[in-house]
Amino acid sequence: MGKTVMTNDTWGQAQAELRKTVGASAFTSWIEPLRLVSLDAGIARFDVPTNFMREWVSRNYSEQIRQHLLKAGAEVERVEFVVPRVRPVPIAKVAGQPRKPGPVPAPARSDEADLPGAALDPRFTFDSFVVGKPNELAHAAARRVAEGGPVTFNPLFLYGGVGLGKTHLMHAIAHEMMARQPDLRVLYLSAEQFMYRFIQALRDKQIIDFKVLFRSVDVLLVDDVQFMAGKDSTQDEFFHTFNALIDQNKRIVISADRAPGEIKDLEERIRSRLQCGLVVDLHPTDYELRVGILQQKAEHYSHQYPGLKLAAGVLEFLAHRITTNVRVLEGALTRLFAFASLVGREITLELAQDCLADILRASDRKITIEEIQRKVSEHFSIRLSDMIGPKRTRTIARPRQIAMYLSKQLTTRSLPDIGRRFGGRDHTTIMHGVRVIEEMRVSDHQLAEDVELLRRLLES
Ligand code: ADP
Ligand code: MG
Repeated sequence: MGKTVMTNDTWGQAQAELRKTVGASAFTSWIEPLRLVSLDAGIARFDVPTNFMREWVSRNYSEQIRQHLLKAGAEVERVEFVVPRVRPVPIAKVAGQPRKPGPVPAPARSDEADLPGAALDPRFTFDSFVVGKPNELAHAAARRVAEGGPVTFNPLFLYGGVGLGKTHLMHAIAHEMMARQPDLRVLYLSAEQFMYRFIQALRDKQIIDFKVLFRSVDVLLVDDVQFMAGKDSTQDEFFHTFNALIDQNKRIVISADRAPGEIKDLEERIRSRLQCGLVVDLHPTDYELRVGILQQKAEHYSHQYPGLKLAAGVLEFLAHRITTNVRVLEGALTRLFAFASLVGREITLELAQDCLADILRASDRKITIEEIQRKVSEHFSIRLSDMIGPKRTRTIARPRQIAMYLSKQLTTRSLPDIGRRFGGRDHTTIMHGVRVIEEMRVSDHQLAEDVELLRRLLES
C-alpha cells in the first residue's frame, strides 16, 4: 500500500517535469490520461484508455517517461502500457428503442436506419464522379477506402474548396461500402450534425448512449470538420470517438475545406491525429475536367429531354467561362436544359449567353492589369519594370503590346486607364498595341499560341 503512494508521488514529480518538456497540450493528450498502476522489479506499468494511445505513447513518450521517473528517484528499467479490459455494451441499447430487460437483440443493420446519420444522395456515386487531374488522387484514395481492404491509412482526410466534390466522394464511399458489405454500420454526417447530436445527448443526459453509438460504427464519415473550429467540447468528444474507432481499426473519413494544419482553433492533438492518416486535396477544376463533367451531365440530360439539340461549342464555352466551382457549373447546365426545353429551342451559344447572363457575369473573375503584366513578363523572361518603362526594343515592346492586348481583352478597364498602368502612356498607344497584336495573331502562329497560353493561364 505504502509503496503505491510513494510511486504515485514519484509519478507526480515526473509528471510535473514531463509537462515542461512535452508542452501543455501534448501533456494533456498523452501523459495526463496515464495511470500508474504498479512499479515493481524495475517495471513501471501504466493504464492507458485506448490501444491507439498505448501505441502512440509507447512509441513517442516511453523513454522520456522512464527518464523522468529515474530523475524522480524511481528505479525503472522498463515502462509498460496496458489497456484495461472494458465490458462491452450492447449496440441495440443506443438505437433509441426502449430498453427492455432480457435478451439483447442482434446489432441493427445499417439499412434499418438506426444510425443518426444524414441521408446519402443517391446521385453521388463513383460512377457519376468524373475523374481528372485535379481530383485523381482524392478519387483513388476514396476508392481504396471503399474497397474495404486492409486499413493501411486511417483516417482519410479529404480537403478542398467549395463545390469540388468532397461530399460527393464521401457519399460514394458510403454507397460503395454498403453495397459491398450490407451488414456494415456506415455512418455519414456533417460535423455540424455531430455537434448537434452531442449537445442533444448532453441535454437529455444520454451521453453514454451517444458515446456507445458512435463507437459502434464500422465506418464513420464526418463532413466539413472545419465547422468544429473553436467548439471545444465538441472537439473533445470527437477526439475520443475518433481514438476509440481508430483503436478498433474502424474506417474514418474526414473532409474539410482546408488542410488540417490550416484549420484555426483546432486542438493540436486533433490536428496531429488527423494528419496521421492520408491527407489528400481536391485541386480547383481545370478546363478539361469541367468539360468532362459537363459532357457527363449533358449526356444525362439528353435522356431526360429527348429531342433537345445541343450545338457544338456550348459546353466548351461554359467550361471556359464558369471556373468557380462544379456546383455552379451544374446549376448553369440544369437551367440551360430546362429553359431550352421550355421554349423548344436548340441550345446554342446565344441561348446560353442569354439564359445564363447572371451566372456568367458573376463568375467573371477579376483579372488585374498587374497580374497580366507579371504573367507576360515571366513568360517572355523580361523584367516587370520594363513593362511600364520606356524601352522600345522589339524583345520588350512586343510582350508589352501583348500585355496591353490582354488587358483590353480580359479586363473592363478603359484605354486611358490601361495607359496609366503602362507607365502613363497615351490611350492611342494602347489602341495601337492592341491592334498590332490582333493583326499579328492571324499570321503569326507562335504569337497566337503565346497569347492563347497566357490567356488560359490568367483565366485558370
Ligand atoms: P463539396 O462538398 O466539395 O463542396 P460537392 O461534393 O457537394 O462539393 O459537389 C458539388 C456538386 O458538384 C455536386 O453536385 C457534385 O455531384 C458535383 N461534382 C463535383 N465534382 C464532381 C466530379 N468530379 N464529377 C461529377 N460531379 C461532380
Ligand atoms: Mg460538401
